[in-house]
Amino acid sequence: MKFATKAVHAGYDYHGHQRALMPPIYQTSAFAHDEVGEQLDFAYSRTGTPTRAVLEANLAALEGAAHGLAFASGMAAVDAVLRATLQPGDEVIAVADLYGGAYRVLTKVMAAQGITVTFADLTDAANLAPLIGSNTKLLWLESPTNPLLNLVDISALSAVAHQHGVKVAVDSTFATPYLQNPLQLGADIVVHSATKYLGGHSDVLLGLVAVSDSELYKAIKFIQNAAGAVPGPQDCFLTLRGIKTLALRMERHCDNAEKVAAFLQTHPAIEQVFFPGLLAHPGHELAKRQMRRFGGIVTVYLKDNSRAAASRIAGKLQLFMLAESLGGVESLVNHSYTMSHGGMPPEQKAALGIRDGQLRLSIGIEDIDDILADLAQALAD
Ligand SMILES: *Cc1c(COP(=O)(O)O)cnc(C)c1O
Repeated sequence: MKFATKAVHAGYDYHGHQRALMPPIYQTSAFAHDEVGEQLDFAYSRTGTPTRAVLEANLAALEGAAHGLAFASGMAAVDAVLRATLQPGDEVIAVADLYGGAYRVLTKVMAAQGITVTFADLTDAANLAPLIGSNTKLLWLESPTNPLLNLVDISALSAVAHQHGVKVAVDSTFATPYLQNPLQLGADIVVHSATKYLGGHSDVLLGLVAVSDSELYKAIKFIQNAAGAVPGPQDCFLTLRGIKTLALRMERHCDNAEKVAAFLQTHPAIEQVFFPGLLAHPGHELAKRQMRRFGGIVTVYLKDNSRAAASRIAGKLQLFMLAESLGGVESLVNHSYTMSHGGMPPEQKAALGIRDGQLRLSIGIEDIDDILADLAQALAD
């Protein structure tokens, strides 16, 4: 089956569910046993529910993985993967330019548990080998990154990591399984904040993990059940419903973002546009190899590099709402410096090039004429 077909059907068989077209929401905490000691597929809803199982199987199909795992949020998924792969004394090497919440859990939670966290610029894959030590257990990648849309070469970095027995996890939230499949590129674990494109309608918080290695699957599933940061059946249903239209939505997000990037590139109020689809983007060639299209996020440096300018433009935008998050059907604008990356120390933001006079645009699926008109009026003096 091709992607769009799997997105609609994979993981669900209506037999056994009263022939309901949609996976039912099993709003129950537990399931009845007929006798003591009976082994049920589902017994207690922290361990598993039929609705969650459909979502987990669906994601596995979309990533070409053996297993999927669902969590209460993207961060719960990140945390479970880190806990399942790292022990005190171990080291994780992570891309420096990564989601603020992942930076926070690595530097504040993992570091406090005796795990060494090393950040590195891995846009050149040759930078990795010299950093790997005897305690290095995990390589944490994000591609494209939030908010500057940097790419790393997942196949090249996975090959180096595997030579040293290091596992590779990729946060692929910005790409979605529609645009990129990290496991097919050689990674061991893929993580998604389904809160973004997979859910797609800004109405659910959920995290997903896909793995093929059965030992890794068992270790992450153990944390999922032991720590219990699991999504409820309603959230699983909403995510499954969102995924059904993922292929259609991503095509439109990508079409619209390409047009927005082209428009902003020549606009006098804009200093620089970050979008992997632009020829000038340093990861453009890699994006063509590693992704099917370039995604729906466009980040800009304003000529006037001030918070006041960012604030004025965000305030003038009518269609684009100023909000955290991204990947929904509606266009959003985010001031990364104070919002998604508010928790990152200023010196770290400066080192990464995250500026006060910068806006991240999540391009929605509205009519492109309305999107461009809104940007034009907001950027006019
Ligand atoms: C939003 C996001 C997360 C965290 O997901 P939540 O669902 O908000 O917990 C992780 N990684 C990336 C790249 C994100 O954009």
